[in-house]
Amino acid sequence: MSDKIITTRFAPSPTGFMHIGNLRTALYSYLLSKSQGGKFILRIEDTDQERHVEGAEDVIIDTLKMTGIDYDEGPGVGGEHGPYIQSQRLPIYKEYAEKLIASGHAYYCFCTPERLESLKDDKGIGGYDGHCRDLSPEEVKKNLEAGIPYVIRQKMPLTGTTSYVDHVYGEVTIDNSELRDQIMIKADGYPTYNFCHVIDDYLMGVTHVVRGNEYLTSTPKYCLLYDAFGWERPEYVHLPLLMGKDAEGNVSKLSKRHGAVSFQDLVKDGYLPEAIVNYIALLGWCPKDTNEEFFTMDELKKAFSMEGLSKSPAVFDYEKLKWFNSEYIKKLPAEVFAERAVPILSEVCADYINKEKLAELVHTRISAFCEIKDMVRFVTERLDMDSSLYTNKKNKTTPENCKEVLVDCLPILEGAESWDNDTLFTLLKEYAASKEKKAGAVMWAIRIAVARQGITPGGATELMEVFGKEETISRIKQAIEEL
Ligand code: GLU
Repeated sequence: MSDKIITTRFAPSPTGFMHIGNLRTALYSYLLSKSQGGKFILRIEDTDQERHVEGAEDVIIDTLKMTGIDYDEGPGVGGEHGPYIQSQRLPIYKEYAEKLIASGHAYYCFCTPERLESLKDDKGIGGYDGHCRDLSPEEVKKNLEAGIPYVIRQKMPLTGTTSYVDHVYGEVTIDNSELRDQIMIKADGYPTYNFCHVIDDYLMGVTHVVRGNEYLTSTPKYCLLYDAFGWERPEYVHLPLLMGKDAEGNVSKLSKRHGAVSFQDLVKDGYLPEAIVNYIALLGWCPKDTNEEFFTMDELKKAFSMEGLSKSPAVFDYEKLKWFNSEYIKKLPAEVFAERAVPILSEVCADYINKEKLAELVHTRISAFCEIKDMVRFVTERLDMDSSLYTNKKNKTTPENCKEVLVDCLPILEGAESWDNDTLFTLLKEYAASKEKKAGAVMWAIRIAVARQGITPGGATELMEVFGKEETISRIKQAIEEL
């Protein structure tokens, strides 16, 4: 297989949202091909019409765009193997199913739903018993001519075993006697996933199938389809599940009860696509010979290899994602950060608040955009004042001497000719010097009076700039009264 160009694909079913586990599958599949100069295909698997969700393809395509997972062939992009949406490929599946019937690897099954129902036990479990496996050609012809509804089933070997070697899990072997004659084409003419993904993977030249490990044990059936057609099997790379940890420390499949599980929800919560990609790249894969944790997409493409994949399930850690995100946010250029932060601030802040300045102050202090509103609550409301905040050992401040500072500074600030950080800083420093006070003590008094909370993003003069003159003066007056 080494002379073939590596071709991988991502084949999601359009469910309406992109689960983080699916996104990781897409990423690894993409990286596997791109690490070797290969090709990456997007295919939409929408043959389960009952589960079809309007607009779900767009969610998939948008996610790939936002994360920089660009596909060489697929919906919207085109390519020599299209169409890339399975519901547009129905005649192809029919043709290939008929080929297998002709070669004796598949057969028409005319069993009624009632008969199939009767094969189930009281738990609703039960497989097909092979009733139509050996119908004579005459019987089949007669039934078809009579218009009796049918499905097409794969004819599994009854003895022997089927094996393949998975790149992550090693050899997988199954007794053929355990394999049911699964349906390839349903009564409504639609193919099943079990059948059509094999046809597509073959026709699209897929060399490596990367997907979740829920398909690990059904893959022998797919291998038998390749064998039946006389096609070379692809290589398989099954990925362990993504897990989540709940408050009690129990680990289970990552689901809503652990937190946001879709890419869209994480983005809505303020996580950057680059940070999400970087974090999930490391959830089940480990780079060789380096402890580096930060990777751009280009670096991932260079570093990725199958040897680094792990078969132990990875646990999604929201704290770790937050950390990655805060690092990525810090690295954002100020104007890019402001572009995202200012609209959020505008939702909650009054018009006179200097949102650009405020954005600058929160930039290095948040780990996700969703934290902004909470962080600026002291701006959007006047919090209850706790006068013990005026006490600071280092600056030797007390509520009493802070009051004195506020009373003295009020007219100075009222007289300020411009309202920017430098001017305000100079005014307060001059005042401190004239009274032989520490500048720190003056700043402390003003900062507490204006912010009404102990820890603030930014110092006194920066906050005054954010609030503007009128609001600052008003807050200082209120503080003096309260003291
Ligand atoms: N449509 C399948 C899924 O979303 C794809 C599995 C595969 O990659 O073969 O689970």
